[in-house]
Amino acid sequence: MKENIIGKRFNRLVVIKDDGTRSSKGDIKWLCQCDCGNLYHALGYRLKRGLTKSCGCLNDERRRERFRDLTDTETENFKMISRSHSANQRVYWKCVCRFCGNELILSNNDIHHYTSCGCRRGASKAYMDSIRNPESLRSTKPTAKSTTGIRGVYFNKRKGSYQAFINVDNKQVYLGSSRNFDEVVKMRRDAEREYGYK
Ligand SMILES: [Zn+2]
Ligand SMILES: [Zn+2]
Repeated sequence: MKENIIGKRFNRLVVIKDDGTRSSKGDIKWLCQCDCGNLYHALGYRLKRGLTKSCGCLNDERRRERFRDLTDTETENFKMISRSHSANQRVYWKCVCRFCGNELILSNNDIHHYTSCGCRRGASKAYMDSIRNPESLRSTKPTAKSTTGIRGVYFNKRKGSYQAFINVDNKQVYLGSSRNFDEVVKMRRDAEREYGYK
């Protein structure tokens, strides 16, 4: 018996008509209009089970969202500094925890699922060590991670600007950014004086 779903909406798709063709198993293929304007042929059971929700535009949007540039954006919990790397279909971002100033690397997913670097829920030491930036000592020596040769000063390739950080009581504090290297080094040096670095 043929179920009539013409005119019904399944997420972004609205069924227009039985397109007259069948799958190899005999399932009806429905011609649908997607909200984005595309026409799409979808199997009835896939529509009803929510397996097909759009012409494909929904997945495209999610993919774009996943790879969106988050540089200098922020959420309630994190400030994103720069892109770190990609792995397993995810993009990882260098972030600063807004509660303690720790720098950490988070994937797009983590950014929305984590509520802090771990400082707000008594995270295990191992976890904290795994995400902590090595700049934990009161020193002005450049770390291996500092690409500029100045400790606490990083170059953000995507923005084409430099960013300065300093560690205060084991918390990383963002000092500011500029395209002018000397200006950013000065931010760091001023902060070093202020916080008694040597
Ligand atoms: Zn669409
Ligand atoms: Zn934190």
